Amino acid sequence: MSASNSNFLLTGLTLSDGTSSDIQIAGGVITAIGKSLPKNSDDQVINFNGSVVLPGLVDLHTHLREPGKEDAETVLSGSMAAAKGGYVAISAMANTSPVADTAGVVEQVFALGQSAGFADVFPIGAVTQGLNGEALSEIGAMADSNARVRVFSDDGNCVHDPLVMRRALEYVKKFGGVIAQHAQEPSLTKGAQMNEGEISSRLGLKGWPAVAEEAIIARDVLLADHVQSRLHICHLTTAGGVEIIRWAKARGINVTAEVTPHHLLLTDESATSYDPIFKVNPPLRTHRDVEALREGLADGTIDIVATDHAPHPAENKECEWQEAAFGMLGLESALSIVNQTMVQTGLMNWESVADRMSYAPARIGRYENHGQKIAIGAPAHLTVINPTQTYRVDRDLVASRSRNTPFHGMELTGVIQGTFFRGLPTFLAGKLTSIHNPAIQSNGIQNEGGTAK
Ligand SMILES: [Zn+2]
Repeated sequence: MSASNSNFLLTGLTLSDGTSSDIQIAGGVITAIGKSLPKNSDDQVINFNGSVVLPGLVDLHTHLREPGKEDAETVLSGSMAAAKGGYVAISAMANTSPVADTAGVVEQVFALGQSAGFADVFPIGAVTQGLNGEALSEIGAMADSNARVRVFSDDGNCVHDPLVMRRALEYVKKFGGVIAQHAQEPSLTKGAQMNEGEISSRLGLKGWPAVAEEAIIARDVLLADHVQSRLHICHLTTAGGVEIIRWAKARGINVTAEVTPHHLLLTDESATSYDPIFKVNPPLRTHRDVEALREGLADGTIDIVATDHAPHPAENKECEWQEAAFGMLGLESALSIVNQTMVQTGLMNWESVADRMSYAPARIGRYENHGQKIAIGAPAHLTVINPTQTYRVDRDLVASRSRNTPFHGMELTGVIQGTFFRGLPTFLAGKLTSIHNPAIQSNGIQNEGGTAK
């Protein structure tokens, strides 16, 4: 793209503090903010009619499936889903095949993200070799690689051995890294299918007790405190977990936590449909848990919203509940659900959304070029949402290569109007465009098999 068409004057925006404003972009950075900005001769003018502008969203928990499971998702298709959902940076979980436990794999994923050109893709390194929970992976080599990995996780698996967890926490301390724990005590969840409670007994599905999550969270905040390192808890789902994080933070323990959009909206009652689209790890919990999660996110006990976007091909979801894979799509609907559950309910304002979905995840991941306040001189990563417009989710229209969205057929409130990544629109007027190659658009969306590997 030549410099002449990369200058934009975005008008009719509402900033997170409620004031209306225009934003001017040139050369990938914000050059002016204010009311009725004068148009430069080479500006493309886009009017957003009062929609809310946020700093570009950052996801700390994304499964992109490449390398190894490209039938479910690729770095390219996942990046496109990200752009469509307002994200400018996503974090690729390590449970690929091969596992991202070496500098070679994380550099490959990082490079694929750069060439796709829809978002920065920051690989997460595995904590242990092959996610086996035993021997530490090449943490130092991944940290020193071109991918500059700072977040390490065995997500999908819990690092359940406390000594391995301790060593990992000690190791990442040297370079300011963080261990992101999938908190699930495996011996308490063998064969578990859904939240343990009244509904699991009624349905005859093996229950997954809250204590399996809470016991690991409690252990790990104590370990993090003991070795004075940094811990992040993935996808918190229980009221008790929120209480433990609150307690740990009050004691000054260096812990952060995330909640997914689906755990802010859905409950274990959805399992009564026996539709495995609602089967997810960790499981959907009770109304009481959902309330505690919303409250925890609003008061900052929970630091961020992270999608846990987990694509699966149809054959792994359209089957019996017991046989189905765990996981659901998240990138494209996340901001709508946060809008609906937190903003439209009055629990959170837009500045808090900017914090939970941009500033804080970028800070936790050490993504230096992201999560900055909208200001002159800041990189022009922007997300624009019309918070009152509604739409019906249609799984056949997702940008992701998989279709396992639990929100299919639901009406959601809040429609993404535009995503700007490094000053260029990756999603605008319903159209996805790579910052490198506008031609990627038609291939990636229309074509099931997709493009680019
Ligand atoms: Zn997980």
